[in-house]
Amino acid sequence: MIMNEIRYPTIKIEGKDTPWDPAHTRRVQEHPCFSENASHHFGRMHLAVAPKCNIQCNYCIRKFDCVNECRPGVTSQVLTPQEALARVDEVLEKLHYIKVTAVAGPGEPLFNEETFETFRLIKEKHPHMMLCISSNGLLLPDKIDLLEKLGVGNVTVTLNAVDPKIGAKIYEYVTYKGKKYTGLEAGEIMLDHQLRGIEEAVKRKMVVKVNTVFIPTINDHHVIEVAKAIKKIGVYIQNLMPLIPQYRFVHISSPTPVEMMNVQDDLSEVMRQMTHCRHCRSDAIGILGHDVQECFDKMEKEKEFSGLRGKPKLL
Ligand code: SF4
Ligand code: SF4
Repeated sequence: MIMNEIRYPTIKIEGKDTPWDPAHTRRVQEHPCFSENASHHFGRMHLAVAPKCNIQCNYCIRKFDCVNECRPGVTSQVLTPQEALARVDEVLEKLHYIKVTAVAGPGEPLFNEETFETFRLIKEKHPHMMLCISSNGLLLPDKIDLLEKLGVGNVTVTLNAVDPKIGAKIYEYVTYKGKKYTGLEAGEIMLDHQLRGIEEAVKRKMVVKVNTVFIPTINDHHVIEVAKAIKKIGVYIQNLMPLIPQYRFVHISSPTPVEMMNVQDDLSEVMRQMTHCRHCRSDAIGILGHDVQECFDKMEKEKEFSGLRGKPKLL
């Protein structure tokens, strides 16, 4: 037997056990959201370059950050791709523990061309930086080749239901290729694209996380079916997020922390669970729970004041 042989875990891709390679493994071991251990050592930065969204979730007030990933009620400043790159340069100069740059909003990253330009600029200048995206999944099958080309290795998809009838209760509407879908059709198109997008991402050795918003009376008895379905298609980890009652779901009470813990315990029998999510804003920078983006915002304002940089746009 070879001494110090590294044994990588395997993952089922199209029914075959496929071993993870070192790059694949790094996407978990150095990403603070995919590994709790990594969250103590490594940080991430979110770049708020994607303001538009292509769907309307019944729990989202669109003037704030996308609540599928981010802390509700917070509005991040939108950066241009060039401003985002300048921010990455500044941050990396000061914070050597930042390993990941992610686009998570404030809208749907795949619906904003600026997301791809931002990744292109970062890949060119900082080729070792891990790139990560958080998406509602609608455009994932269409954009997966581009994401692969750009070197995006970590993907989060918000998947709240694997039954289009339940999805129909969650999405007010979905717009795709200029057409607006509502009701069951909206639920069907979302589910079809989300599952196909995840499968394509797994095939390309991207590591996939699924965020599931736990919505009492809507999908509370169904989240276990979501866990079973994503386990089968090679998702690495699931992140159950409590509903924050807003918009059309304003009348639904949030689950209590105890309820969340109990459900997560049940889900963990089926699927690996993320239990250290901090519901960050779409411009968060730092170690999870110890964000420092305010320091960089302050520097930005000082530069603006001295005329060195254009004023960032507000949503
Ligand atoms: Fe809001 Fe995000 Fe849903 Fe778009 S995908 S409606 S930004 S929660
Ligand atoms: Fe990670 Fe959760 Fe923060 Fe997203 S919101 S960066 S998953 S800790």
